[in-house]
Amino acid sequence: MTGNGNFYITTAIPYVNAEPHLGHALELVQADVLARHRRLRGQRVRFLAGTDDNALKNVTAARAAGVPVGEFVARNAARFYRLREPLALSFDDFIKTSADSRHRPGVALLWRQCADRGDFYRRRYQGRYCAGCEQFYSPEELAGELCPEHLVAPEPVTEQNWFFRLSRYRGTLLDVLESGRVRIEPASRRNEVLAFARAGLHDLSVSRPAARAHGWGIPVPGDPDQIIYVWWDALANYVTALGYGAAGQPYQDWWVNSAERVHVVGKGITRFHAVYWLALLLSAGQPLPTAVYVHEYLTADGAKLSKSAGNAVSPEELASRFGTDAVRWWLLREVARLGDTDFTVERLVHRANTDLANGLGNLQQRTLTLVHRYRRGRIAPPVGPAALGSELSIACETLPHRIDQALARFDFRAATGAIWSVVQAGNRLAETQRPWELARRAERGDHAAATRLDEVLGVLTGACRTLATELGPFLPAGSARLSEQLRPRQDAIAPPVPVFARQ
Ligand SMILES: [Zn+2]
Repeated sequence: MTGNGNFYITTAIPYVNAEPHLGHALELVQADVLARHRRLRGQRVRFLAGTDDNALKNVTAARAAGVPVGEFVARNAARFYRLREPLALSFDDFIKTSADSRHRPGVALLWRQCADRGDFYRRRYQGRYCAGCEQFYSPEELAGELCPEHLVAPEPVTEQNWFFRLSRYRGTLLDVLESGRVRIEPASRRNEVLAFARAGLHDLSVSRPAARAHGWGIPVPGDPDQIIYVWWDALANYVTALGYGAAGQPYQDWWVNSAERVHVVGKGITRFHAVYWLALLLSAGQPLPTAVYVHEYLTADGAKLSKSAGNAVSPEELASRFGTDAVRWWLLREVARLGDTDFTVERLVHRANTDLANGLGNLQQRTLTLVHRYRRGRIAPPVGPAALGSELSIACETLPHRIDQALARFDFRAATGAIWSVVQAGNRLAETQRPWELARRAERGDHAAATRLDEVLGVLTGACRTLATELGPFLPAGSARLSEQLRPRQDAIAPPVPVFARQ
């Protein structure tokens, strides 16, 4: 580990032109797992989330709703913040880019640093602009005539803008990406970014006329007729939230000296994070992130999640209907690392019932019921791996390492799969050793059966404890309930109740 050992993690900041959907929940939960996992391993962690308030499309949406922009943005930003409780999120900070007093000075400072480097110039520009993406598209990037992300025709725009000398950083960017100094995960996304950069990088338009932006956003320092491009503004949030503009200590602790600086983003904005953001930092003379993890998209019943498509599955509603654990578990256990994943309520329910109620819940319930009934609630001391059930003991012993390895690759399915393998080994041990039969024999005075029962219950409760601990980053509430049941009061545990309800 390098630097001060700290771990800094961020989500992208979504536009607040609409309500949060399940895709936002995916990103927040993934980042939350990474943050909680590092905290569990004893690392100092700072987890940042927030909202991108300064986009032009927020202005458009506010006008359509007939609400002043500031009010509209504040109201929708609050909806994103409110996901904290239903999704059990543990972010340490939440930045709203239009309202947070830390943001504007940081954006202005970054701008001035790049200007001092001679990386800006003014140019008349003609291009096709997708307001949905808030970006210009070159003809070869379009799908036919349409934006590949939104499948609408971008609008032709001609204007005088500030340009950033992105082309100047191509060599350094290639070096940084090829050497892995900045890790882009999964590898297929890294290859995409490399191909894009190798093909040549055009200078980037980084301001808009204030009139087209309807005066919303951050003015260019020294040129108030121009508004800073919303993406430039948005990317800066990762450091402005650390007090970059005020030369604050948090920026030193969590960015400059941090062992890891990790961004979790969706595949539609890979280029902004793996190319533009890096170039901006290089120009400003600041350290780069250490990793960018790119997740895929969710669809619902086969269609892209969006408000316009009418299938924006509300994470709040799902959590209130099925519980936080069920929603988080589905997102972590089923969403593929590559390729989009289709969400249906049936899949969520099936997963919750199979893994949580019948698998994990049943293992703990049957184990603690036996401890309560036949051992007066007294949990036997843990048994060494040689005694019996070596498959389960090995699965338990290697579980933390397997989770560490999987999460180092941002592979949430592999991490939850490792947990599931312990649950399965535990239930298999119970089936083969049949502790309930051992208990009946022990009650009839069979001493060998009594000893065996102690051993089996010792191994099984040990597995329950390991699971309760290691599940913490994934299902914080479920993990707490499992741990609570395993905690003896005056030497004995209380009779167990099911930890996960059947849906
Ligand atoms: Zn678009």
